[in-house]
This record gives sequence, C-alpha cells and structure tokens, in this order.
Amino acid sequence: MEYSPEIFLAHLAQTTPFPFLIPIERAEGIYLYEPGGKHYIDLISGVGVTNIGHRHPKVVQAIKDQVDKHLHVMVYGEYIQSTPNLLAQKLTSLLPQSLNSCYFVNSGTEANEGALKLAKRATGRTGIISCKKSYHGSTHGSLSVSGNETKKSAFRPLLPDVRFIEFGNTDHLSMINDKTACVIMETIQGDAGVRIPTKAYMKALRKKCHETGTLLILDEIQCGMGRTGSLFAFEQFDIVPDILTIGKAFGGGLPIGAFIADQKWMKLLTHDPMLGHITTFGGNPVCCASALATLQVLQEENVVAQVEAKGKLFEKYLTHPSIKEIRRIGLFFAIDFESEEKVKRIVGNALAMGAICFWFLSCPNSFRIAPPLTITEDEIKFSCEILLAAIEQS
Ligand code: PMP
Repeated sequence: MEYSPEIFLAHLAQTTPFPFLIPIERAEGIYLYEPGGKHYIDLISGVGVTNIGHRHPKVVQAIKDQVDKHLHVMVYGEYIQSTPNLLAQKLTSLLPQSLNSCYFVNSGTEANEGALKLAKRATGRTGIISCKKSYHGSTHGSLSVSGNETKKSAFRPLLPDVRFIEFGNTDHLSMINDKTACVIMETIQGDAGVRIPTKAYMKALRKKCHETGTLLILDEIQCGMGRTGSLFAFEQFDIVPDILTIGKAFGGGLPIGAFIADQKWMKLLTHDPMLGHITTFGGNPVCCASALATLQVLQEENVVAQVEAKGKLFEKYLTHPSIKEIRRIGLFFAIDFESEEKVKRIVGNALAMGAICFWFLSCPNSFRIAPPLTITEDEIKFSCEILLAAIEQS
C-alpha cells in the first residue's frame, strides 16, 4: 500500500508522463534499495544532490544532534542559531574574500531569485543577460532567465529585459553594457549536456562585467560542491563571481540553497525597502546542520582531490563504438549517442540491470552520469560494466 503506484499517480502531482516509478525504501552510499531488497547504483546522485553518498553517517549524526536541540524557531535572519552561524563561517572560509556573506534559502531556484534581486538592487539596473540552453530553476524569475524556450512559452509573460547569449561565444559578450544589472551563468552548463567553457572565455566574461559595472552571478547549483574536481567550479577558471549560487549537494540530502556575495551588497537588502528579501524556512537549522557536516566530510575525507582520477577511470572503462562523444569535467559526464530513442533505450536497459542514469533537460541525445564522489574504483568498474551492457543491448 505505502508504495502503491496508484496512490503515486492519483494523488502526487506528476511532472512527466513517464516517471521512473521504482519504489525506494532506503538508501545508503551509492545504493538505492527497493522494499524487497533489489538495489540500484545511483549514478546520478539524486540529480546532483548526494555528492558524498546517501545517508553519510556524519551527516545523519549531525541531523540527529540538531533535531535533539531544536527545529525551526524563527524566520530567517532574526535569532542567532548555532548551525547557520557555523555553516556561514565555514562556507565563507572556503571562498574568496569577496564572497563573505551568505543568504540561506530553501532551494536552488530561490538562490537564483535572491541573486537576481540583489543584482538589481546593487546596480539600480534592470537588464539581465543569460545563456541559451541554460537552466536556473522553475519559479518565475529563474524560469525567465533559463534558456529553454519550450519550457517557457506556456508561462509568459515572464520577466522583461532578459536577453540571451550563446554560452562560450566571446563575440556575444558585447551585449553586456552599462544597462546590464547582471549576467547569470552556470559555470558549467549542466542541463545543456555538460558544456565546459574555456578559461579565456570566462576571463573575458569577468573582464566585461567589471568594465560595465555588471554583476556576475555564477550558478553552481549543479556543478558546485566538488562535482567538477574543485570545491567550486569557478576556481578552475581563475575568476571570482560577484554572486555565487549553490543548492542541491550543498545540503547533503536536505533542502537548502544559498546566494553568497560581498556584505557591501548584501546589506542593501536590509533597507529601502527593509526586508528586501525574506524567507520563513531559509537557514533551517536541521538543513544547516546537514550542510555543515557535508562540507566537513568533503574536506576531511579528501573527497574532492580524488574526483579527477575517478572521472578518468570512468572514461577509461566507458568506450563503445556507438558513443559519439563524452563531455566530462570531474565526475560530471554527458554521453552522446546518435538519437534520443537510443538514449531512452540505454537508460531503460541500465535501470533494468540495476544502474540509474538520467537524461538532460536540453540535450536529448545524451544521458548523464554524475555519481556520488565517494564512489570507489571497484564500484566505477562495475558501473561501467552495466553501462556497456546497457549500450550493447540498445
Ligand atoms: N540551477 C541549476 C544549474 C540547476 O541544475 C538547478 C536544478 N536542476 C537549479 C538551478 C534549480 O534548483 P532547484 O531544483 O533546487 O530549484
């Protein structure tokens, strides 16, 4: 009864006509378990969330400790609570000096909403530049700056004054001018199928934003928290954003996001108008405890330093004549095939064989692999055997 697909389909709002529909009773490390014990390797980390695996013991313990102290006690920004305090201290200690003030929210899309509002408030401008094929979230502001037209047209009117440039095209940077409040960009485009910009492009982008007084928002909701082989992807491009947004893996399995900027801008949200951005649950102490423990695990267990070698191992094992291209940074892969139909067959075959991979929102000919960063070498080898068999039978 509790796993009834009838209840699921009748009483839980659906997002697609073809949900995975597998019943999950528990999860541990890289594995998801059905009630009868059948298990799957989660090669997508719950779509970018469980970077240190499901239910990491230190995360579970931190959550329990916090639950024993208190849950929600007040809306964001009023009381001094230990876990948001310690999380903000830890997070800012891992970021460049200018990213010194964290605003905790409940999700990725909310982090981007806050960042966009902050950029408008800080510059007094309204223009926003984003990228084609980008994904920044599903609420109105984030949807407005997302670059997938088919997901947007039914919901217009959206935010005005948003223009789209091609990700990675230096010529298009000329569209950034003194009317632009901000550029919002994923450091690595995730749902466009793992698109990796050049360092030269990112530096030119940074320069153009500086020259025009435009704030650069980097969305690392999917590519942050060690996924690319550095704690934050922007570190690999020798640039620093004005506002950084994070979510997903940041919470270690509980819902939390953040936009992070210099306090000189953040404090603008306290006046003209006062309460310029508010949230009831943002910075929830249990979510902050989980996020803090996750950051500690990423650091103390030397997780991030091993990402590149593990990524290379996947590449070594994953060779098949029908693979058209593999785009990879760290442990974030898009694997291209000749058609969407073939990709669907491969994902279905892999599921039947016990490995979960998934598609992208804006790249139909590819599927994604983004396993927990804690995956072992043996688990990588075994996962690749399943994937190759799934490809072979497609
Ligand atoms: N930005 C990026 C780059 C994302 O990948 C996502 C989620 N896929 C979001 C924003 C939105 O995050 P959320 O679903 O938590 O609102």
